[in-house]
Amino acid sequence: MKKIFILFLIINMLFLTSCVSKNEYTNNFFTMDTPMSITAYGKNAKEGVTKSISYINKLDGLFSKTLSQSEISLANSRDGSAYVFSETVSALISKSVEYSKATDGAFDITLGTLTNLWDTKAENPKIPSEKEINEALENTGYQNLVPNGTYVLFKSPLKLDMGGVVKGYACDGVYKILSDYDIKSAIVNLGGNIYVKGEKPDGTLWNVGIKDPRNDDQNAIIGYISVKDTSIVTSGDYQRYFIKDGIRYHHIIDPKTGYPSESDLMSVTIICPSSTMADAYSTAVFIMGREKGTEFLEKNNIDYILITKSKEVIVSENLKSSFTFEGKEKGYIYEK
Ligand code: ADP
Ligand code: MG
Repeated sequence: MKKIFILFLIINMLFLTSCVSKNEYTNNFFTMDTPMSITAYGKNAKEGVTKSISYINKLDGLFSKTLSQSEISLANSRDGSAYVFSETVSALISKSVEYSKATDGAFDITLGTLTNLWDTKAENPKIPSEKEINEALENTGYQNLVPNGTYVLFKSPLKLDMGGVVKGYACDGVYKILSDYDIKSAIVNLGGNIYVKGEKPDGTLWNVGIKDPRNDDQNAIIGYISVKDTSIVTSGDYQRYFIKDGIRYHHIIDPKTGYPSESDLMSVTIICPSSTMADAYSTAVFIMGREKGTEFLEKNNIDYILITKSKEVIVSENLKSSFTFEGKEKGYIYEK
């Protein structure tokens, strides 16, 4: 009798596990130079996630600055002639120019020559000379992108770097794919770009951690927000950087100076349903700094969490009730 009971339990457990695994599917993968993961729930979870990953890989093949055959690389290495982009690429270029205008040029996809100089991923990253920076600055400026149905670059040495917006764009695309597969609940994590779709399968909110910008442990957070159906995008000076003579050189370049932005911020998190916009604006607000950045976000009614270099945590009014602060012991200051 006892044996039968145990067998019954085992069968029961197996059944339960298969139900859970049937409805939940996770895939961890690496593309766009970034570790990514998607977890989805529902009977089409696996198909939806698999389709999403091939979509992200396809985008990488169009937008990558390092893959030699991507549209961006081909445009960047053109021989002085104009370059006509595909519809997908030109649409995101077009959006990026809008974001440049809205942010007074803080966000700018034409910094390719500069971001090549500031190669934070190199084995021995070096600080470019002032001459190199000034020359590179000559070959930047979103005003040089001329809309013409599909975009054409007219200033020959101009190089594009869409690293500040493409993961957000990918997140929005994945959201659509998951919806097409009737997936109501999912969490998409494309590096610093997160999208939570719907609520958790148990009907509660998703808790998304806000990274401690001065702790290398990937799991160290200063707090978390409880949200549903939105994108959460963070830009910071801790994601890609090198330190030389005590100075931190990171990957967000101020288009005005050609140097890594020296604003008073360590990290900017933007929370809004458009991940593309959140990606562009998190990069831009990081450069604008606290005062100009909060003014810009308030004016546009966008939620945010900023962390300043003096460890102050600033949360938009609307988000305060969803934010749980856990950074006190780590020296962070939060006044509700
Ligand atoms: P990450 O790509 O690490 O998530 P961001 O979204 O903040 O971080 O984008 C930083 C990337 O965007 C850089 O690695 C570079 O490719 C590009 N970039 C750097 N400065 C700017 C800028 N001022 N405007 C637009 N893109 C930028
Ligand atoms: Mg960005």
